[in-house]
Amino acid sequence: MRYPILAAALLAAPFASASAQQDPGLDVSEERLRADVEAMVGFYTRHTLSSQTDPERGIGAALEWGIGEFREASAACGDCLETRFIETEVSGRRIPEPVRLRNAIAIQWGTERPNEVVIIQGHIDSRGSDVLDAEVEAPGANDNASGSALTIEAARVLSQHIYPTTIIYALLSGEEQGLYGGNLLADYVTEQGWTVKAVLNNDVVGGSCGSDGVCDAENVRVFSEGVRADADAATRARMRSMGGANDSPSRNLSRWLDTLAAQYEDGLDVRQTWRSDRMGRGGDHLPFLDRGYPAIRFSVAIEDYEHQHQDLRVENGVIYGDTIAEMDFPYLARVTQFNVRAADRLARAPMPPRVTANGIVRPDVLLEWQPVDGAAGYTVWRRRTDERDWNQRLTVADAGDGAEISVTLAPDRGDDWIFGVSSVSADGSESPVSSAVPGGEFYPLPQGDDSQ
Ligand SMILES: [Zn+2]
Repeated sequence: MRYPILAAALLAAPFASASAQQDPGLDVSEERLRADVEAMVGFYTRHTLSSQTDPERGIGAALEWGIGEFREASAACGDCLETRFIETEVSGRRIPEPVRLRNAIAIQWGTERPNEVVIIQGHIDSRGSDVLDAEVEAPGANDNASGSALTIEAARVLSQHIYPTTIIYALLSGEEQGLYGGNLLADYVTEQGWTVKAVLNNDVVGGSCGSDGVCDAENVRVFSEGVRADADAATRARMRSMGGANDSPSRNLSRWLDTLAAQYEDGLDVRQTWRSDRMGRGGDHLPFLDRGYPAIRFSVAIEDYEHQHQDLRVENGVIYGDTIAEMDFPYLARVTQFNVRAADRLARAPMPPRVTANGIVRPDVLLEWQPVDGAAGYTVWRRRTDERDWNQRLTVADAGDGAEISVTLAPDRGDDWIFGVSSVSADGSESPVSSAVPGGEFYPLPQGDDSQ
């Protein structure tokens, strides 16, 4: 379908609001989250090298408990979840002897496009001061029983609804030893051939104050990468020429989350943090980024360094250790609520399109993209190259007749703008914006393409 030349008329709404739907975020239970964190802390340690077989202590018991919670959620929705362990054997710098590594996952299949997946995940393993010490008590309350409880609660709440696309809930292990569980799941997803719309990685999401007394219970940080990890030399060269260092799918997922958060008066605000993770540190969203999948990390606004990765002790009057006493459960409930709202919307929305923009030595700009499954229409966005947000909504294109869609914006002097397009479902759920720059697509990039 070829659209006529359109003047760049600005439309008012900054974000297509979904049709009136019930808000599953309101079903999140702070009490259940607290009970789940208490249960996980009760395993004494969840270190990846701890016992796999002890029924009461160690990583094995914690994973069995976790998949049991998924099974209970499934029983409550008429067996709507497929639950399973995925496993491998790993060794490495922080795993001196080969060890069995398992993730517990629950799959809520989509009814229309089951191959499209949104992943909500948290790592369930814990550690003390010495990353190799599998014996010491390691409650890992905030890091990361909080993100694991969030994942389980999201499964309970969202499994009461039916979605056109698939949601995967994952409890990962081996994070503290080197992101092994994240790598295992990212490989698994690749082997299945699934299309990953978004990975919401939750790691340290249940506290609001630092040890220095600085508190913030109103924001949650969203970490996103700029230059995408899977861009090869040819793509990076095109990014330097055309723009694209600030328009990865991860970055646009971050913008989308920020815009979504602003729609809820009772919710947290998003603090977009434009780096892959905290300085010099990592998390289980990184293995997905490495493979070209859109992924972000949720984490608390204020990190508490004396109550993570620390053996329980008192030193010079300072209490160390990652205990429940240091957590903020109302805050955890709000982060959970936001994950639920985001996954609900993402699971309804189509994939963002792959868009190209041509404005080379011409006054108008030609945007082109292929139709997307499940899209009832598309929204064209732009922003100045130095602006943070998609603040100008230009035009709305309908679903078309199945042929390539092209929109000419004139006169628009493309050099001064970044353009993008979102997909919109029939119920009004809008995808993140896919930027019309090299590496903007929400799909893994081809590798080794040095021809351009
Ligand atoms: Zn962690």
